[in-house]
Order: sequence, then C-alpha cells, then structure tokens
Amino acid sequence: MEIRIIGCHGGETPRHRPSAFLVDDRVAIDAGALTSGMDLSAQCALEACLVSHAHLDHIRDLATIADNRCQKACPPLVVAGTKETLALLKKHFFNGLLWPDFTRIPDRKHPTIIYKTLTPEKTHTVAGYKVRAIEVSHTIECCAFIVESPGGAMAYSGDTGPTDRLWEVLNEVSDLRAMLMEVSFPNREHKLATLSGHHTPKTLEKELKKYKKVKDLPFLLYHIKPVFQAEVEKECSLIRGVNLTIPKLDDHFIV
Ligand SMILES: [Zn+2]
Ligand SMILES: [Zn+2]
Repeated sequence: MEIRIIGCHGGETPRHRPSAFLVDDRVAIDAGALTSGMDLSAQCALEACLVSHAHLDHIRDLATIADNRCQKACPPLVVAGTKETLALLKKHFFNGLLWPDFTRIPDRKHPTIIYKTLTPEKTHTVAGYKVRAIEVSHTIECCAFIVESPGGAMAYSGDTGPTDRLWEVLNEVSDLRAMLMEVSFPNREHKLATLSGHHTPKTLEKELKKYKKVKDLPFLLYHIKPVFQAEVEKECSLIRGVNLTIPKLDDHFIV
C-alpha cells in the first residue's frame, strides 16, 4: 500500500495544506487539498473519497474536484461517509446554493459524484478496498477509517480528542501497517484542544499507549496548526517509546 501526503496541516498558508491523503493514488481520505495539491490527471484518477467529517478543512476541495472532473468527463467520484456526514454535505455544501448538486450534473444518469453511506463498525467495499468507519470524539460526528487490502491495512483518524473505541478496534486489526493520527495544538493550549476536540502531544502520548503494539506501528502525525508547527513538532519529538513521523507535503510512504 502506498500512502501519499497531499495535505497534512490543520490550516493553510502557501506552505501548508489542509488534510488530504491518497491510498495507492485511487482512494482519497479527506478532501482538504485534492485540487490545491494535485494536478488534473491525478484528480481524475481518483475512484473514491472517504470523508471523516463535514468540517470545511476536510471537505472543501470536493467542490473544485467535482467541477474539474465534470468538465473532463471523468467517471463518477464515490464520496463515502456516515449518514450524518453525507447529510451535512447535501444540506449545506452541494445544496444548489453554496455549490451545485453534482449528483445531478451533467444529468441524473451521469452524475459527477455518487454518495456512499458507511455504517459505523460495518465493513464496506469502496474502490476494491475493505473500509470500516469507527466513530471518534470531535465537535461534530467524525470517524476514523480502517482501509484493508490483501497486502495489509492502514488506519486514519479524523479530527479527535481522547477516545477508547478506536483503539479497541485497532488492537484487533491484524496486519496494520501504519496509522495517520491527528495532533493539533501545543501542550500549553490544552484547554483549546479539549474544547475543539483535538490532541496536544501530551494527550496524544496517553492515547497512543492504548494501542498494544505502540512501539511497532509507524504513526504519521498530521493536522498540526501552522501557527504552532515548530512547537508541536518539538513536543512530539520528546515522546518516548513510539514510532512517530511528521510527514511533509508530497511525501509518500510504502507500508
Ligand atoms: Zn474538524
Ligand atoms: Zn480539521
């Protein structure tokens, strides 16, 4: 499995892009940078996008990728998420006001996007991968995803603060190769992190220890706020007994 980092930050500047990752260049996980970080051919090659939650920094480039794919007559893009997340997308985003409803464009028989509802904890097939959504703890409904192929599994947590269920499930996943995990604020912003449903390095350290084989699993940390980048990186470097990497834009990892 190949994981490509299109966007890995909790904000945006010309050097930081919001969350967007690719699995084998076919499945995107979150859409914060799908058009700002990929050329047209890569945008058109995508088969599906898993959406962790409806916050703008995770969905916004669904608008522009739909527009591009429609004009290039690409096959429909499967947008997969929980019922609640898809309901928010339909009501507030692709609602014919803020942006067109691309399930009807160019026409109902040839949609640019197709919604696929993921029931939490159930295994679904998306673009040939087995995908499970597990609810995590954020200010709105938000999920982690476990993506499995015959070659192994990877996990991604959407925005979250401390949670137990995800780690219970991950402890039962055989052949887990890597995990993309969020950390957003420095330790001194603990209050803000708690209020907004995010981690600091300190809360992350406690959280990671809920995973039994924590020393063996490579964790790729994302969603650091650009304002706090250096501070959070330094605090993460002090966490012992774990295998942490802070990826950069356009990095790719074979897992
Ligand atoms: Zn969020
Ligand atoms: Zn976010």
